[in-house]
Amino acid sequence: MHNHKDRYKRGFPSKSELDRKRITDLIDRSSPSTSKAINGGSSAKSSSLTNRDSRSSSNPISKYSNAEEDEESETDSDDSNGRGSDGDDTSWISWFCNLRGNEFFCEVHDDYIQDDFNLCGLTSQVPYYDYALDLILDVESSHGDMFTEEQNELIESAAEMLYGLIHARFILTSKGMASMLDKYKNYDFGRCPRVYCSGQPCLPVGQSDIARSSTVKIFCPRCEDIYYPRSKYQGNIDGAYFGTTFPHLFLMTHGQLKPQKPSQNYVPRVFGYKLHKPRS
Ligand SMILES: [Zn+2]
Repeated sequence: MHNHKDRYKRGFPSKSELDRKRITDLIDRSSPSTSKAINGGSSAKSSSLTNRDSRSSSNPISKYSNAEEDEESETDSDDSNGRGSDGDDTSWISWFCNLRGNEFFCEVHDDYIQDDFNLCGLTSQVPYYDYALDLILDVESSHGDMFTEEQNELIESAAEMLYGLIHARFILTSKGMASMLDKYKNYDFGRCPRVYCSGQPCLPVGQSDIARSSTVKIFCPRCEDIYYPRSKYQGNIDGAYFGTTFPHLFLMTHGQLKPQKPSQNYVPRVFGYKLHKPRS
C-alpha cells in the first residue's frame, strides 16, 4: 500500500537542481496568484535548496547562481532527512514536518484537513489540488500509476504548498495554537538575536498572507521586531504558510507569555562619549 507514497518520497532524491527549478516554474505558471519575485516556496523543500542566502541577497536571481553547490546541499539534506530509511508507517505529514528547514511547521491534524470547510478557497490556489490532498492524507490514489515522474514531482510540490496554506489556517485554531505553544516552549522557532532581548524565544510570522510574496521571519515578543531565521533552510520557507496574524493572536491568547519590553537600549559611544544627535 505504500508504493504510491514511497515513489513520491524517494523516487527522485538525486534529481538535478535544474529539474527543481523547472518544477517551480511550471507551478508558477499554473498558479493564479503569482509573484515570481521571490521563490518563497511553491515547495518548501525545493526552494530551500535554491536560495542559500536570503539575508545578503535581495536579488532573487542570485539565488540560482550556484547550482552545483545547491545540489550538494540537496544530497546533504536528503541524507539528514533519512528519506531512504524512514519507516513505511510514517505519514506524509510527519515526514514533511521532519525535513530539514521545516522545523517551524507543526503537524496539522488529519480531521482538520478532512473538513472541507477548512479548505475553502484553496482549490483555486493550488494546482493538482485533489492529488495533492490525497498525498497529504496518504490516500492511495487509483491514478497513481498513470502519472509520469514529472507529474508526480509537480504533485509533490503542490502538496507542499497546499500543506503550507492549510497550516497557516490551522495554527490560528485552538488545537493548532496548542501545537505551536509546545514548539515555542521548546524554542523551535529560535531566539531573538538582539543582545538586550536576552535570548527571548521567537515566533514565526509572515509579512504577507499571499503565497510567494516573502519568506518566513521570526517575531520577537520582547522587542516586537522581526528577524531572519538563523537557518538558511528555514529562511527559504514561504511566510504565507504562517501568516501575518499568528504570533500576535498567539500572544493575545497566551497573555502570560508576553514579556516586558526591554529596559535596556544599546548606546553607541566613541572613546566612551555618547554621540550627539545631528540637528535636524
Ligand atoms: Zn527581541
